[in-house]
Amino acid sequence: MSGATTDVAYLTRALKMPRTREVALSLADTARSEGWDYLEFLAKVLSEEVASRETHGGEHRVKAARFPQVKTLDDFDFSHQRSVSRQQIAHLHQLDFLREAKNVIFLGPPGTGKTHLSIALGVQAARRGYRVAFATATEWVLRLSEAKRAGRLSEELERLGRIPLHIPFDPEAASLFFSLVSSRYERSSLIVSSNKSFSAWAEIFGDAVAVAAMVDRLVHHSEVIVLKGESYRLRGKGKEVMAAEQTR
Ligand code: ADP
Ligand code: MG
Repeated sequence: MSGATTDVAYLTRALKMPRTREVALSLADTARSEGWDYLEFLAKVLSEEVASRETHGGEHRVKAARFPQVKTLDDFDFSHQRSVSRQQIAHLHQLDFLREAKNVIFLGPPGTGKTHLSIALGVQAARRGYRVAFATATEWVLRLSEAKRAGRLSEELERLGRIPLHIPFDPEAASLFFSLVSSRYERSSLIVSSNKSFSAWAEIFGDAVAVAAMVDRLVHHSEVIVLKGESYRLRGKGKEVMAAEQTR
């Protein structure tokens, strides 16, 4: 091993640049045969390292987001779910909404793919370098009420402000959501899914005025996608369900 090779081995370890260590020698060979100048060589080496970090960091962020399952658009059957346009979802998948701090809201009955599509957007965001957090409405409320009790609600909201969030909206949700939604308004994105319409949220919260104010902020810069149809979980099970009903 030449002195330089030993140095590269040592220095890439010290700098935690494993990909550079792997590719340094072969890129140096290519540089010689292709006649790259020093700067070109450096750019190639660094871009290898960056590409490798993006791939690994992406999977790390997918884990950190705590999705209940990893779902992608590739496993979403648009021929089953005809009430949503593939084009609209593909556009969201490009993540402009995150750069613009807009929200995405999926509404529709159970099993129509709201959570699946939310996760697919979240996974894509994580792979593209965004920190993402997924939790149920109940979990968000718990987390925020704990922060409030400890006197650090605003710090927690501030911290969460840097992370796109997913909230499957369910009846256990409480009015802490109002603070969550207001603190993120025009600053960071939320993906919300609910099997209840906006008008039903007022009943869930029991405070029609607060809900109206919250929905107003949530929807102002958002894409609302209303899914329809039968539950995917029950697809092809119509006959069995009916048979079961009849025997009762
Ligand atoms: P929702 O959140 O609307 O209640 P989910 O997104 O959780 O429904 O969907 C329920 C299950 O059915 C999940 O396993 C999901 O991956 C699957 N699913 C729903 N719609 C589709 C679809 N169009 N193509 C493929 N899988 C689907
Ligand atoms: Mg769901």
